[in-house]
Amino acid sequence: MAASDITSRADAPQQFDLDRCVHCGLCLNACPTYRQLGLEMDSPRGRIFQMVQVAEGLAEITPSYIRHIDLCLACRGCETACPSGVQYGRLVEAARAQIESGRKRPWPESWIRAFAFRWLLPSRNWLRLVGWALAWHQRSGMQELARSTGLVDEFGEFGKAERLSPVVETPFFYSQYGKVFPAEGERRRRVAMLGGCIANVFFARLNEATVRVLTKNGCEVVIPDGQTCCGALHLHSGLAADARALARRNLDAIAAADFDAIITNAGGCGSTLKEYGHLLADDPAYADRAREFAAKVRDVTEFLASMEWNRDFGPLPLRITYQDSCHLAHGQKVRSGPRQLLQSIPGIEFREMALAEQCCGSAGIYNLLEPEMSAAVLKAKMRNVQETAAQAIVTANPGCILQLRAGVERHGRGQRVAHVVEILDEAYRAKASRGS
Ligand code: SF4
Ligand code: SF4
Repeated sequence: MAASDITSRADAPQQFDLDRCVHCGLCLNACPTYRQLGLEMDSPRGRIFQMVQVAEGLAEITPSYIRHIDLCLACRGCETACPSGVQYGRLVEAARAQIESGRKRPWPESWIRAFAFRWLLPSRNWLRLVGWALAWHQRSGMQELARSTGLVDEFGEFGKAERLSPVVETPFFYSQYGKVFPAEGERRRRVAMLGGCIANVFFARLNEATVRVLTKNGCEVVIPDGQTCCGALHLHSGLAADARALARRNLDAIAAADFDAIITNAGGCGSTLKEYGHLLADDPAYADRAREFAAKVRDVTEFLASMEWNRDFGPLPLRITYQDSCHLAHGQKVRSGPRQLLQSIPGIEFREMALAEQCCGSAGIYNLLEPEMSAAVLKAKMRNVQETAAQAIVTANPGCILQLRAGVERHGRGQRVAHVVEILDEAYRAKASRGS
C-alpha cells in the first residue's frame, strides 16, 4: 500500500487544539505514565507544552521529545479529566505523524514496521498465512521448547512478540466473511459487523459470540466481504496516510446507508472508526461518506444497551469486575452500557474496582514497544483487581483481554478474563441448556 497521500490536518498538532490547554494540571493524576514516573515531561500537560514548543518553532523534534511522545500510552485518560476539552488523542496521533514523517529508522526496524503495517495488518492472505504458521508453532511443541530453553529470547523483538503471542483460534473468522446471519425472531435491526484484523485469527470465537448475541437481539448481521483493518494501530503509530488508505477501503466495502449500525467489539477499533469523518475531512471524494459511516459506528455493548436488550438469560453465578477499555471509556464515552448489560444477568455479582478507567498497559502494541512501562502499569491495575476478589475480569477490547491475561499470569489468582459479549453469550446459552 502506498503511503503517499494528500496531506491532512491529522498530520501535525493544530494550534487551535494546542491552545485549548490552560496548563491547569488537573489531568496529571489521570495519567498512568505520570503516576509511575512523577515527571512533568511525561504528563499530558508536559507533552502538550513540548508540542507547543515544536509547533511555534521554539524547539526541534529531538530524541528527547520523541521519547516523551513514544512513552505516552495514548489512553486518553487525560481527555476525561480535562475541564478545557483538550482533545489529547488527536494531538498525540498528530504529533506521532509529524515525528514519523521525518524519522529515519534503522533498516531492520523500518523493514519490520513496513511488513507489519503495510503488508500484514491490511491483508487477509498474509494474516491467514502468519496465523497458520503460528498455529503450527504453537501446536507442534516448538513453542514450548523455544520458551522453556530460552531460545526464543535470542530473537530480540521477535522473541518478545512471540512470548506475548496469543493462542491462534482456528477456523479463522474470515470463513464468515460475505455471510448474512438472520435475526432470531422478528428482525429489529440490520447491522454490518467488522471482524477486525488480527482478531480474525486470535479472537475468532469472540467474533462468533458477537454474531450470536446480536442475532439473539433481533439483529440481522452482515459480515461485509471487502472490509479490512480499521487503521487504529497505524494511526497510533504515526502512520496517518496508511490509516486513511484503510479507511477508504472500508468505506468502499460498506455502504453505511444500508445498515442501522456498523458494529465492532473492539473499543480501540471503534474509537478510530468513529473518527473517520475527521481522518478524511480533507479528502473531497470521501469526506461525506466518512462522516455518514462514522455516525453509524457503535461498539457492540453501546449498541445493545441502547435498545431493549434480550434479558432471557440463564443464571451465571460469577463474581466479576469490569475493566474499562480506554478507547471505549475515554475515546467513545461508553461506560454505563457494558456495566448495565453485565448487571442484568442473574447470578452475576458485580464489584467495581478502583481506577477501573485507568489503562491496563495494553494500548495497542505499546506492551511490545514499551514493555517496562506497560508492565508497571499492569502491576498497578492488578492490585486494584485483587482488592475486588473478583473471579473474572471482564472488559470490552481484545487487546485488554490479552494484557489482563498476562496480568493474571504474573500477579493474579487464576482469574478468568473475558469480553462482555462472551459473558452475555454464556448467559443466553445457560438459559437454552435449561430448556426453558
Ligand atoms: S494519553 Fe494517557 S499516557 Fe498519554 S498523556 Fe494522556 S493520560 Fe498520559
Ligand atoms: S490538558 Fe486539560 S487538564 Fe491537562 S493541563 Fe491542559 S487544560 Fe489542564
